[in-house]
Amino acid sequence: MSTTESAIASAEAHSAHNYHPLPIVVASADGAWMTDVEGRRYLDMLAGYSALNFGHANRRLIDAAKAQLERVTLTSRAFHHDRFADFCTRLAELCGMEMVLPMNTGAEAVETAVKTARKWGYQVKGVPDGMAKIIVAANNFHGRTTTIVSFSTDAEARADFGPYTPGFEIVPFGDLTAMEAAMTENTVAVLLEPIQGEAGVLMPPAGYLAGVRELTRQRNVLFIADEIQSGLGRTGKTFACEHEGVVPDMYVLGKALGGGVVPVSAVVSSARILGVYRPGEHGSTFGGNPLACAVALEVIAMLRTGEFQQRATELGDHLHHELGVLAGGGAVETVRGRGLWAGLDIV
Ligand SMILES: *Cc1c(COP(=O)(O)O)cnc(C)c1O
Repeated sequence: MSTTESAIASAEAHSAHNYHPLPIVVASADGAWMTDVEGRRYLDMLAGYSALNFGHANRRLIDAAKAQLERVTLTSRAFHHDRFADFCTRLAELCGMEMVLPMNTGAEAVETAVKTARKWGYQVKGVPDGMAKIIVAANNFHGRTTTIVSFSTDAEARADFGPYTPGFEIVPFGDLTAMEAAMTENTVAVLLEPIQGEAGVLMPPAGYLAGVRELTRQRNVLFIADEIQSGLGRTGKTFACEHEGVVPDMYVLGKALGGGVVPVSAVVSSARILGVYRPGEHGSTFGGNPLACAVALEVIAMLRTGEFQQRATELGDHLHHELGVLAGGGAVETVRGRGLWAGLDIV
């Protein structure tokens, strides 16, 4: 057996088969390139599902992590630490918002957004207890918790994991009329990916996000943008919502926020919305830890220059031009996406 084959055989024997990886065993990576245990090199076009927007082993991110590793890595939120205020302030600034609630993984940030919208609904909007509804889109991907798979339309992600959490309405992505029809006085939020990532990099129809913004404003409903995969540079903007000139009420961020080094996620919103929390009502042992904040602060500093967004736009134009040549002739049927994010339908 080759080194690759034996590594795959042991992984299959001793890990749950909840993934079906390509038969490559990565040993190291640098920038956009990965090297496997046999010394073969691969161009990494997945980029950790947009967690690696700054490349593998980015010097600035590795240095920031190393420096913080030597100082303090975890305090829990029972104490303040000296990277926390900067992280929250800078991230809120980057988002043009006021407050940050840090978590670790994307799914936890989505859960946080759901809890926040419900609490806002009861405390601020005046929805009767237990009645809050959140509208989501078909073919969404927001993570893997029991609540989140409750509103998935993907049978694989959902089957055999019930009973499911109530309180969600599913409407077709891109259909404003259906969304309006689904709204009641108990609707507290619309939760959407501005570009549907796992569904296949599906673009919203022109004007859709602006329409959702207008509708949610009129009906006093929160617009929550899950920018975990679409945000932080890959599409050529800090947020995919910017392509449509839209500012939501809440951003849900993850993946690239931790630079591919550590899991860092957050909900970012206004004081009117995130101000609903009191001590003890929500939290996370690792959320907002010093190591996470140090790495994320470097990510935010890199995004503030606009240089990475610019580069994703330029390289993305080249990528889409060349992919466009392939489309419709042979194996590639259609090509979608923005910047350095592309989805292909392969025949
Ligand atoms: C990946 C992803 C999540 C879940 O993030 P995890 O860190 O895997 O929990 C949520 N929403 C979107 C849009 C994602 O792409």
